[in-house]
Amino acid sequence: MQDKIRRIAIFGSTGSIGTQALEVIASHPDKFSVEILTAHSNEDLLIEQARKFNPNMVVIADDKKYSKVKDALASTDIKVFAGEKALEEAASIDCYDLMLAAIVGYAGLRPTLQAINIRKPVALANKETLVVAGDIVMQKAVENRVPVIPVDSEHSAIFQCLVGETRNRIEKIILTASGGPFLGRKPNYLVNVKREHALQHPNWTMGAKISIDSATLMNKGLEMIEAKWLFNLKPDQIQVLIHPQSIIHSMVQFEDGSIKAQMGLPDMKLPIQYAIGFPTRIANNFPRYDFKKINTLTFEEPDIRTFRNLSLAIEALNKGGNLPSVMNAANEIAVYAFLRNRINFLDMTDVIEKTMQKVAFIEHPPLEEYYQSDGEARTYAADLIKL
Ligand code: NDP
Ligand code: MG
Repeated sequence: MQDKIRRIAIFGSTGSIGTQALEVIASHPDKFSVEILTAHSNEDLLIEQARKFNPNMVVIADDKKYSKVKDALASTDIKVFAGEKALEEAASIDCYDLMLAAIVGYAGLRPTLQAINIRKPVALANKETLVVAGDIVMQKAVENRVPVIPVDSEHSAIFQCLVGETRNRIEKIILTASGGPFLGRKPNYLVNVKREHALQHPNWTMGAKISIDSATLMNKGLEMIEAKWLFNLKPDQIQVLIHPQSIIHSMVQFEDGSIKAQMGLPDMKLPIQYAIGFPTRIANNFPRYDFKKINTLTFEEPDIRTFRNLSLAIEALNKGGNLPSVMNAANEIAVYAFLRNRINFLDMTDVIEKTMQKVAFIEHPPLEEYYQSDGEARTYAADLIKL
């Protein structure tokens, strides 16, 4: 990495990715500093982080919490802003070198677009951004020559496998999936599972929304669409393979049949560090994978008849247009309702399927129409659930 300290803007600093990124940054004060921190509702953690990392500014998206944050930081030079619009405004200020996009869901799209507009490299954790408007986001990134570096572990794996391979055609990519907490289960079991079960992921500790997405396999569907845009692939070049040990983070198969894999223990700090430090690998003392300890790596087909969210996502991937954004919006509403015990596990799929059938298909929507499709899908899905 160049000698200059890289100034990082963390959007979603209070989340699982955001807090792990701050751990990485705290271990390398000679390489990184924190310029912007943003939270939605966890004002206490935002205040604590701001005191520790002394950023230029913080944004609390929930504006009811503005005065608490402002008062708590009154004795510092840290600027405090509040509200959704302030997230976009902060992203458009030319004061940082790289954005870590770690907000969850659709809310991450607009600030990320702003970073790309002002030509800031993006380390992208927020996969929903590419699911909703991947064509527009990637096209802007190419026009502005802005690197979009994946943080999602599978995409980081593929990205790492592709270093040095720019001229070589990809035959296919193999996205590995742990299978989540309900691997091997059937619908008669799934109908009764509660949020507490679904939040227990076997290999990763993550935010609530992605934990549910992992339990339904929607996460893998979102990741297929994310991969299509990041690596410019056709749907039939993207294969999902269940690999319960989560040691191989994903693979690339080239035209000569050679397959490259990226491996390691499951720990998000590694892809986060790789993305914010790219192209340099930074020495660390994270635990290492020992081939003699976990010496069986297994693989199986995903059960898309049981985990129907994955087949809905494959349909969205194949059809394209606004369908992925409609699916994503319905999924966000369904997961929200499941987390509040308003619907059961399998109802989530019905809500998504019905919404995908209802909202009118648009083949090449401009950005505004992606926003509209998202809104329409949310309203329809929320009506179905009577939220
Ligand atoms: P969390 O739920 O743990 O954190 C989400 C962050 O976004 C928090 O800082 C939260 O603020 C903020 N936020 C939530 N809603 C809004 C909103 N409406 N406006 C502005 N900010 C908001 O999520 P994760 O860290 O788990 O995931 C973040 C993203 O990274 C997701 O897109 C996920 O798919 C992706 N990802 C996560 C992985 C993981 O291991 N966690 C792995 C791979 C990808 P607050 O807490 O203050 O309310
Ligand atoms: Mg992933």
